[in-house]
Amino acid sequence: MPDPKFTKPWHGVPRAEIHWNPTILEDFCIGCGTCVTGCSRLVYRFDFDRKKPVVVDPLNCMVGCTTCANTCPANAIVFPPLDSVLALEGRAEVRQAVEDDLLARHDILASPLQVPHPDRIITLAVAEKTVLTRDVLRLVLVPVQLGACFCEFVPGQYIELWQPGSDHLSRSYSIANAPDGSGRIELHLRRVAGGRFTGWAFDAMQVGDTLRARGPLGAFTMRSASDVPLLFVAGGTGFAPVHALVEQQTRFQPSRDMVLVWGMRAADQFYALDELAALAATAPGLWIVLAAEEGTRVELPDRITQVAGTVVNALADPALVEGRDIYAAGPPMLLRALTADLARRGIDRARLNIDSFGV
Ligand SMILES: Cc1cc2nc3c(=O)[nH]c(=O)nc-3n(C[C@H](O)[C@H](O)[C@H](O)COP(=O)(O)OP(=O)(O)OC[C@H]3O[C@@H](n4cnc5c(N)ncnc54)[C@H](O)[C@@H]3O)c2cc1C
Ligand code: SF4
Ligand code: SF4
Repeated sequence: MPDPKFTKPWHGVPRAEIHWNPTILEDFCIGCGTCVTGCSRLVYRFDFDRKKPVVVDPLNCMVGCTTCANTCPANAIVFPPLDSVLALEGRAEVRQAVEDDLLARHDILASPLQVPHPDRIITLAVAEKTVLTRDVLRLVLVPVQLGACFCEFVPGQYIELWQPGSDHLSRSYSIANAPDGSGRIELHLRRVAGGRFTGWAFDAMQVGDTLRARGPLGAFTMRSASDVPLLFVAGGTGFAPVHALVEQQTRFQPSRDMVLVWGMRAADQFYALDELAALAATAPGLWIVLAAEEGTRVELPDRITQVAGTVVNALADPALVEGRDIYAAGPPMLLRALTADLARRGIDRARLNIDSFGV
């Protein structure tokens, strides 16, 4: 019998709509019974005559669990591809149901073994809110109290912001500028369809609003020797931390051999090209490539070129990659594709520094 304890909706999705349960490959099965006794959800019963397990209550199976397959000595249990579960987790309502559950049970689920953070929580005010393109917003945040600032952050780091009115609902955003001592923080936010924080930031946030912020966080910072050529790779708003790193380099080592490859799906999504042009103008060693899968920009400043395709396509020329330390930021899918491509080309993984905007 399906047990209501196990078949309740999975993060809001009715269990019956999710295809997740084991299938026994009888030809492989040696009838040891490990799966039957090992599954606490009574998915299996045992056919004692045939000496084979039988899946009697597939909906009792915990979504994403593969314990029985992992412990089957004969490799006789298979599951649907995990992609089907990952696709569910990518849906806004599922992600937000997980988040609601986590926050609602904060008292129970908060770890007693919290690692002390060397960072601080302060209040920042929204000084500027500029819509750069249809789906990218630039925010400038400034300290509210004298002395309570992130004046000492290192380019490439990020901060965590709390949505006003919530103790626990927070999101991370990379700082797009290099520090100038004033505590001014620039962020680039990409609108995420159905997104809680970005929905609020785009539609309701006002200049003058104050936000709790924690930081500075993260280790996506410059760690290369000063004579090593660099490659920066950005996908979408992964441009933010990369911009901070490039700004730092152009300030202190403008002649350094640097390549920046920035990818967007469509050519009209690139933003802040005036800032890029200013960087290129002050740094003779900097070469910039924009990679767009659709469309072309007609006019581009000097030393900025555009190629068709993804950033991985744009990096086909070995001169852009080999002998360089690599700093790459953006969505996990792009970073996975980049990492796989570099591994295939024999580039040492130790040369690659990654800042994943993964969720
Ligand atoms: C270290 C770090 C730095 C980051 N820096 C930036 C930054 O500089 N600029 C920026 O725009 N974002 C950045 N992000 C992502 C950001 O923290 C949020 O995840 C993002 O803005 C979505 O929040 P939301 O509340 O609007 O969406 P949610 O309500 O959390 O999610 C809604 C839906 O969108 C999907 N989703 C959520 N985030 C993403 C994403 N990043 N890409 C694709 N789909 C997503 C979810 O799976 C869900 O389906 C960073 C993330 C990390 C971990
Ligand atoms: S995957 Fe887990 S819950 Fe599902 S049948 Fe196997 S052990 Fe039971
Ligand atoms: S654990 Fe594997 S081999 Fe053993 S009964 Fe289950 S399916 Fe068969």
